[in-house]
Amino acid sequence: MIRPKSERLFNRAKKILVGGVNSPVRSFKSVGGHPLFIRKAKGPYCWDADGKRYIDLVQSWGALILGHGHPQVLAAARQAMNKGASYGACHENEILLAETLRRAFPKTIERVRLMSSGTEAAMTALRIARGATGRDFIVKFSGGYHGHHDSLLVAAGSGALTLGQPSSLGVPAAWAKTTIVVPYNDLTAVEETFKKTGDKIAAVIVEPAAANMGLVLPKAGFLEGLRSLTRRYGSLLIADEVITGFRLKWGGLADAMEADLVCLGKIIGGGFPIAAVGGAARFMDILAPLGGVYHAGTLSGNPVAVAGGLAALNVLKRVNPYPKLEARSKKFAVSLTHTATRLGLPFQVIQRGSLWTVFFTETPIYDNASAQKTDTKLFARFFQEQSMP
Ligand code: PLP
Repeated sequence: MIRPKSERLFNRAKKILVGGVNSPVRSFKSVGGHPLFIRKAKGPYCWDADGKRYIDLVQSWGALILGHGHPQVLAAARQAMNKGASYGACHENEILLAETLRRAFPKTIERVRLMSSGTEAAMTALRIARGATGRDFIVKFSGGYHGHHDSLLVAAGSGALTLGQPSSLGVPAAWAKTTIVVPYNDLTAVEETFKKTGDKIAAVIVEPAAANMGLVLPKAGFLEGLRSLTRRYGSLLIADEVITGFRLKWGGLADAMEADLVCLGKIIGGGFPIAAVGGAARFMDILAPLGGVYHAGTLSGNPVAVAGGLAALNVLKRVNPYPKLEARSKKFAVSLTHTATRLGLPFQVIQRGSLWTVFFTETPIYDNASAQKTDTKLFARFFQEQSMP
């Protein structure tokens, strides 16, 4: 694989940026080789520093469901930028974006707080839950990733998993003890946990389709079971839809789950740094300035990011790309499976809408332990072949 410019840039980056990157998954550590340095991107393509073109199936980790540089999104952001990059003060588009989110999640969202990253959204949702219940413990699922906040970096997925550090150093042990980790799809384990500690649990946080240990879908009744258990014990149910929000359909899965709070990010920013927590007024109004749970941000509701996000959501609403994305992804998954069968490889694709993961195993995958039994060496080879020009 010859990418001399990317290689040279990576060697230079390593001397100044920690590990040469600003976010660990970009380092290619788990799949080998050196990372690509991207020079530009447009629509479904990106070009690396060596001028090679790729079909970009990552699309900024799901933020760019419309592809790179959608003209309406860029125009809206440019127009906003002409009026100032940041105010640190209120402006009308914040209301428009929040109203759009409320219309997309009519059962879940009465109030919205905008912020800048998915990590911040999950962290804030937990703080609201702790503030609302006066309880300290939270339940999360092994292999679930909700950002790099202290409470959530325990048995985490995404980069934490692929880099082999599912629990981070630097998280105080006392803090980590308030995070109870159970296997995804294991309602019995959740029930046992609630029986033991139910009166101390502030919230269960869950990805309604878990997409950070590869894609793992919820079994029938799992999300409903979480809802009835949390209700029984007076805990909040938090739907982390930073990935699934606006990814599989307009809105997300929080309404169907009857979640108390929903975390959004990625797509709602159209490629710009916007995230949000939404929920019923009785929970959300606990946030400052109305209540005693603090959250703030210099760049919260940044006008350029809000304009980009709003434009992206408007395009999504108008175009409704979801049936097409489902049909194309399914076709792709089927053709990959045929190829793997022809080659006699142990293989399966889990796919829903434009979310899909290739697992090199035939054993059914329903949680992090089963997802980890895939042949990761074969995956690394597959990844490298895919990235080859
Ligand atoms: N929640 C989920 C489900 C995520 O997948 C991610 C990131 O991938 C986050 C939260 C954190 O979002 P961010 O990377 O914007 O901090």
